[in-house]
This record gives sequence, C-alpha cells and structure tokens, in this order.
Amino acid sequence: MTVGTPVSDAAVRHADVQRLRRAFDGGRTQSLAWRAAQLRALETMVTDREREIIAALRADLGKPGQESWMTEISTVAGDAAYCRRRLRRWSRTRRVRTPLVVQPARSWIQPEPLGVVLIIGAWNYPLQLTLAGLAAAIAAGNCVVIKPSELAPRTSALIAKLLPEYLDDDCFLVVEGGVPETTGLLEQAFDHILYTGNGHVGRIVMEAAARHLTPVTLELGGKSPCVVLPDANLDIAARRIAWGKFTNAGQTCIAPDYILTDAETEARLLPKLTETIAAMYGSDPSTSDSYGRIVNGRHFERLSKLLGSGTLAVGGQSNAAELYMAPTVLTNVAPDSAVMQEEIFGPILPILRVDDERKAIDFIRGRDKPLAAYLFTDSAGAQQHFLDDVSAGSVCINDTMMFMAVPELPFGGVGASGMGAYSGERGFRTFSHDKAVLKRAWWPDIMLRYAPYSDGKWRWLRRLR
Ligand code: NAD
Repeated sequence: MTVGTPVSDAAVRHADVQRLRRAFDGGRTQSLAWRAAQLRALETMVTDREREIIAALRADLGKPGQESWMTEISTVAGDAAYCRRRLRRWSRTRRVRTPLVVQPARSWIQPEPLGVVLIIGAWNYPLQLTLAGLAAAIAAGNCVVIKPSELAPRTSALIAKLLPEYLDDDCFLVVEGGVPETTGLLEQAFDHILYTGNGHVGRIVMEAAARHLTPVTLELGGKSPCVVLPDANLDIAARRIAWGKFTNAGQTCIAPDYILTDAETEARLLPKLTETIAAMYGSDPSTSDSYGRIVNGRHFERLSKLLGSGTLAVGGQSNAAELYMAPTVLTNVAPDSAVMQEEIFGPILPILRVDDERKAIDFIRGRDKPLAAYLFTDSAGAQQHFLDDVSAGSVCINDTMMFMAVPELPFGGVGASGMGAYSGERGFRTFSHDKAVLKRAWWPDIMLRYAPYSDGKWRWLRRLR
C-alpha cells in the first residue's frame, strides 16, 4: 500500500496507520535534515505543480488562478519555507532555572514529536487546509495521515497523487473519501488530530478522539462580524470588506459574515460597496474570470434560501446549473432573520443597523465567539474597547483576513469557533510535546526528603523552599 492509495476498509486503514507508526518508531523523523528535506519537497511540489493545482481548484470551486495562487499555493509554499527556516531554532532544548532544593542539577524542556498525526481538511481551501497543517506536523517530526475533503474531489485526488511523488512514502498517507472513510480513520489511535470544518462534525471528532485520549485541534467557523464606525475611510473599507467577503464566493471561514453599522454610515457605505463590486467583478459577475462558484448543489440550495432575508440591495442573481450566485448585499436585515441564524459561507453580505459602537459590541457578545472580528475606525478609543470587550479567534482592524499573512500570529478559534492553533511556531508546538527533563548530580544527596520524616527535617525543608 502506498501513499495516495484509496483505502476502503478499517483493517487496511489500521495496517496503514501501523505502517506509519513503524516508520516513526524507526526514528527517521527525529532528524532535522529529514524534516527540512520533506518541507523543501512540499514547497517544490506546490510550486512545480502549480498548473495542475490551479486546474483542480478551478474544477472544484471555480477558483480564479490568481486567487488559488494567493490563498492556497503561495500560502502552503510560504508555510513550508517558514517552518524549514525556523526548524532548528524551534527544536532547540530550552534551559530553565533549577531551584536550590534540587541542586546540583540541570533542567530543560526538550520538544519531541508526538508520533502519527491525522489531518482532516475541509473543502473550501482544500489544498491549504491540509498541507499547511502538514508543514507544521513535518517540522515537529511527525508522520501524517491526511484526509482531504470529498467535497473538493479533484483537489483531493491531486493531493493523493502528488504527495507520494515528492514526500517520504513510509511516513505520509493520503486517505481519500467521505464519512465512512473518516469514521474508519477516527477508530484508529492517533497522537493528535487536526480537524477543519463545521462544529457539528467537530464534536464527532472530539468524541472519537476522547476514546484514545488523543488531543485535538479544531478549526471551526461561525459568524465573523464586521463593525464599521462613522469615521472609517469608507472607500477603502468597502474594498477590503468586499474582497474579504467575495473571495472564493464567500466560502471562507474568516470572511466577514455580516456588517454592523449605524443608519447614516450604511447610507454612505452601500453605494461604495456597489461600486466596488462592479469594479472587481464587472456589471455581470457571472462572466468574470475573477469570481468563483458555490461548491455544490446542496450549498447552493441552502444559500438560495438565505436570499429572502431583508431587502436586496446589490446582486441576488443566481444560476443553479452553473452554481453561480452573484455578490449580494442585503439591507434592513433583522437579527432574527434566516441569514443571521447560521454561518453564511457564501457571497451574501447582510448589513444590520446598530446605534453605536457599544451596541455593536453587545450584539457580538450576545452570540458565539467568532473566528474573526473586524473593526473599521481610526478611533484609538473604539479600537481599545473592541479589543478589550470582543473575544474572537483573531481581530483585524481596518482590514479583513490579512492577519493570515502574518506568520508570527497564531490562527485559531475560541469557544464555538474552535480550539488550538497550527500556524507558524504555534503549529510546531501543537504537534510537539514539551518534554520536561531534570538531570541530577549524584552528590550531594541531601537526606531531608527521605523517610523517616522528622520535625527537624521538616523545619529545614521549610527554610529551603
Ligand atoms: P467538509 O464538508 O469538507 O467536512 C470537513 C471534513 O469532515 C471532511 O474531510 C469530511 O470528510 C469530514 N466529515 C464530514 N462529515 C463527517 C462525519 N459525520 N464524521 C467524520 N468526518 C466527517 O467541510 P465543512 O464542515 O462544510 O466546512 C465548512 C466549515 O468549516 C465552516 O463552518 C467553516 O467556517 C469551517 N472552516 C474553518 C476553517 C478554520 O481554519 N477555522 C477553515 C475552513 C473552514
């Protein structure tokens, strides 16, 4: 059985995981040179095979080539290179202070790989959501099973084909498939599971992981709010919000889900959003090379039902046969309307009116903690209130999504939007165990801690503490 072979039954899956475990136990992943070589190979793979990757993403999601490069290919290549360059530094043991009571001795923290890791990806960024995690797991010295999403089948098949061509066949396995395959995988014992997707399946993953006491990182979603205050530069805000919302036809976990603003700002912002959408995608976005498609009929149907909320201000056109839905803006949207009951995950942008910044914060705090929260204002005071009072995976002030371009920032959710993070150094830490080590000298061997206990020994111990 080789990397990328479709695996169809639990026994084979067990055997495959065992194969990776044997490779891990053989010790080759401990070598920093091996890890660096795998990371370089991953970088080469996505760069060399850019055209095939772009074609697969276009087939799965209608993704424009430049968008695929910006949000998937260059991200994976960048993550792999970033991990490779810092690998040695991250892997170093870290000396810590040793208290008097245990002297003479040395104490340190020694990162060690966890073992065999499972990465379950989602369909919306099907390359990036599996291979960026892979880069972090390789950097930490793990073997990895990857389960790409079956809802992006062309990309899944391409990952299964390419990985064995570039990476060490004994240490990596791609399992293609849907719920039965994932369920079978979740029966196996892994040393860590990274899951990206919706919270319902996140709970299934966490329950399965609990049976083996496997730690999990859950990258989930939710409704990421976008607050626009009256003093914001609305020309630029409109552009940055529209880009964040309509990239990948809104199927982005950190897309601004809805706008909160006051009536007067809404009246100024709406024409600018309308102009921006036309400037980005033309008067008929269905003919634009820069605009993607909805992933499948089920999601198209789901999104079509949400178009009935509020008043249609921009867009609204759709074509089921082409899975096309125009960039759409809704106004007069009530908090209890359908579009506000679930993560939209599509090209529909509702605007809700709130009186002021405080009401916007209260609105956000009254709901699940979002994956991202956006604020557009120059007011330092308003920015500070927002940062103090809004809990979110990430906050971006005066832009959307661009925190993803800062590798030193951890990316992950909080509360209902997820747990744990895997970007940059956090990824290395996620897939490592910090082993605590104390190395004692033989002499002196102070008798105070040994039985028989006595008041005198106890007194001395209290002084030494
Ligand atoms: P999806 O349908 O591709 O599912 C994700 C994975 O879960 C797939 O590999 C699938 O095979 C598996 N799966 C599905 N049902 C399962 C089951 N019953 N048991 C075991 N495994 C199962 O993706 P999705 O859930 O539609 O993803 C969209 C969600 O993911 C959105 O909420 C989005 O916000 C979130 N998301 C989060 C991030 C992040 O980094 N935080 C990134 C992308 C997407």
